[in-house]
Amino acid sequence: MQNLAERLLNGDRRALARMVTLIENESPQARRYLAELHRHAGKAHIIGVTGAPGAGKSTLVTHLVRELRRRERKVGVVAVDPSSPFTGGAILGDRIRMMELAGDPNVFIRSMASRGSVGGLSASTRDVVRAMDAAGYDPIIIETVGTGQAEVEVMRAAQTVLVVIAPGMGDEVQAIKAGILEIADIFVVSKADRPGAEQTVAELAMLLSLDPQRRLHDKSKPYWRIPIVKTSALKDQGISQLVDAIEQHRAYLDESGMLTQRSHRQVSSEVEALVISSVLSALRNAVSKEEWQQLLEDITSRQRDPYSVASELQEKIGLSEK
Ligand code: GDP
Repeated sequence: MQNLAERLLNGDRRALARMVTLIENESPQARRYLAELHRHAGKAHIIGVTGAPGAGKSTLVTHLVRELRRRERKVGVVAVDPSSPFTGGAILGDRIRMMELAGDPNVFIRSMASRGSVGGLSASTRDVVRAMDAAGYDPIIIETVGTGQAEVEVMRAAQTVLVVIAPGMGDEVQAIKAGILEIADIFVVSKADRPGAEQTVAELAMLLSLDPQRRLHDKSKPYWRIPIVKTSALKDQGISQLVDAIEQHRAYLDESGMLTQRSHRQVSSEVEALVISSVLSALRNAVSKEEWQQLLEDITSRQRDPYSVASELQEKIGLSEK
């Protein structure tokens, strides 16, 4: 009997689906399998798609997948909704809109919702991506629902981030938060068949021209000039150009050494997060709820101080002080 990881590596979709469920349930088994899968992953190009609700992300992703299939790629999609409660892997989204894609054996789509912390959600997103990557999906698209801090966090797992903006959404461009601007590698002006698309492109170009990095970059090094790509899903325009831009960004990441740099940053925060989560669970095992409550009381009423309580707890879970 082959184990789940082996079946997954052989391209068994049911094994991949089972793996994703284990990840969502934070099963200890998942970690063991993922440890094994890790060395088989790292080949896929991971594309993030973010933007305000209604910007046209889902429609765009559907068209992107279609174009990528035309290019004979095996595509994974993870739709992440940090604001929805966990529902067992099927929010509306695996959804009707992607039904036509779901029948394709070379497309694997999963929805994920929050069951608590942002940290938890970005960790499980990263793990699902790792499993799809090991199963041979490339590229893998991570789509998020909003543009808040949670979405920015989830997007850190991506190598190429698309920020989608629809024309005529009021002060959409002005509303682009600094965090989103920082992570954007490609701007997509969606629904370009609508009036106002040119103006949105002009406003974005203006915004980009103010970027200090753009003016200060070292001319001898490769530099990524953030492109603005207009797409219309309705008229099936711009999608192929967008896929080209995505592939050019991947090539830039390789040539400039940025890919390694980004990977190191990601792995560093992943390992830190894993250590922190083990320390926290050791703490929860070592101290009962009542004891914890009592400690909080003691500190609030100034009978004790947070520092001595912390060092006492550290000792209790076997972390000696320096
Ligand atoms: P999301 O919330 O960002 O995922 O946005 P959706 O993909 O659900 O699209 C929001 C709305 O915009 C839907 O009613 C779509 O039919 C519409 N829409 C999406 N793409 C286009 C487009 O290229 N042109 C036009 N005119 N409408 C579009």
